[in-house]
Amino acid sequence: MTGCYACGREAGFEGLPLYERIAVDAHWRVVHAVDCALPGWLVLLPRRHVVSMAELSEAEAAALGGWLVRLARAVEVVTGCEKAYVAQFGEAAGFRHVHFHVVPRGRELAVELRGPRVFGLLRAGERAVSEEEMNVIGGKVAAALGEVR
Ligand SMILES: [Zn+2]
Repeated sequence: MTGCYACGREAGFEGLPLYERIAVDAHWRVVHAVDCALPGWLVLLPRRHVVSMAELSEAEAAALGGWLVRLARAVEVVTGCEKAYVAQFGEAAGFRHVHFHVVPRGRELAVELRGPRVFGLLRAGERAVSEEEMNVIGGKVAAALGEVR
């Protein structure tokens, strides 16, 4: 799919770093958010190009709830956060492909960054979590997912 970041990465699945294939099934793929200043910020993506939740298949829809709850549990285990935020917008250029943000909201998260303002931690530039750290976190999330069923 031309111009779609998620589909471009999916097309190269076999060569993806750990943080871009933390967990997968036939319908969904879990990644660490890129260019993001908050360690443990996960994104759940359908493995085919979909731009509206209304286009999800019955099978994709059936798996969605379980994935979101398991990711919330895993992110709580890995980051020690109080709870996980979940959001789906798909408005940025190149990122219209449906994707669910699963965001660790720790006790230490500044009040001015709570709720939708947490998106101020994206497009982080030099403050972004490094690829090395995303891979470490990805490994911990994968391990935690194995224990939170
Ligand atoms: Zn796509």
